[in-house]
Amino acid sequence: MSSSPTALITGASRGIGAATAEMLAQDGFDIWINYRSDHEGAEIIRQRVKDLGQSCKLLTFDVADPQEVSKALEPHLKDTTPFAVINNAGFSADTLMLTMDFDQSWKRVLNVHLDGFFLVTKLVLEKMLRRRTGRVINIVSTSGQAGVAGQVNYSAAKSGLIGATKALAKEMGKRNILVNAVAPGYIETEMTKDLPMEHILPKIPLGRLGKPHEAAGAVSFLCSPRASYITGQVIAVNGGIYM
Ligand code: NDP
Repeated sequence: MSSSPTALITGASRGIGAATAEMLAQDGFDIWINYRSDHEGAEIIRQRVKDLGQSCKLLTFDVADPQEVSKALEPHLKDTTPFAVINNAGFSADTLMLTMDFDQSWKRVLNVHLDGFFLVTKLVLEKMLRRRTGRVINIVSTSGQAGVAGQVNYSAAKSGLIGATKALAKEMGKRNILVNAVAPGYIETEMTKDLPMEHILPKIPLGRLGKPHEAAGAVSFLCSPRASYITGQVIAVNGGIYM
């Protein structure tokens, strides 16, 4: 049996979640990768984690579906308690509020980001509490800090997640479970590939998009012993676009 701590990362079949899985494997974590449909991407990341000498499980479920979450996670939680949960699964469905559809754009974005955080974290927290140690890291966004036109749904979801991060940090502090958020700006992933860069780049002081591993670096730090006195914080990784 492995003596490495385990990190559960939602939405880790590509992008920021995948980079986080690889970096935490380098840090010595065994990895549980969650994703919903990108089997090929998840398999590639599993292989990379194994090449780094750590074990890796693939857990396929929709983070917003209560039955799927319990069915997939509970059997694994019987003998392993993850040290870290990284709530990263997410997507955007951008449009102006006046043309925003209630079910697919508003509710689904809130469901995946907020229900996803609640369902996954609650199950693991029950186990973490018994151990009196653990880290919860929520991937939020500059959009939830500053508000972005065309993202009323996504800004609401990420801003809500920032509030949840701070409230849970207060609830869990005495139990030695640290809860923080990482707020990426524009990071080069599938999510940003179709954005109009000619309008965005001039607004970024560092003059470029971030790479997935640059967001993952903040998660790696927050999972490390060096971050043992940090809780309830939002660490921005945004090239200076929001200060
Ligand atoms: P990607 O689109 O590259 O990856 C999204 C990941 O989330 C995929 O693994 C996808 O898997 C998974 N996913 C999506 N919906 C669900 C779901 N319902 N259940 C389980 N897994 C799901 O996105 P990024 O890497 O760019 O984004 C990762 C996180 O970072 C998101 O929360 C995003 O909001 C946030 N973020 C991203 C920024 C950026 O500029 N890229 C900026 C700020 C924040 P599958 O396809 O299999 O469903």
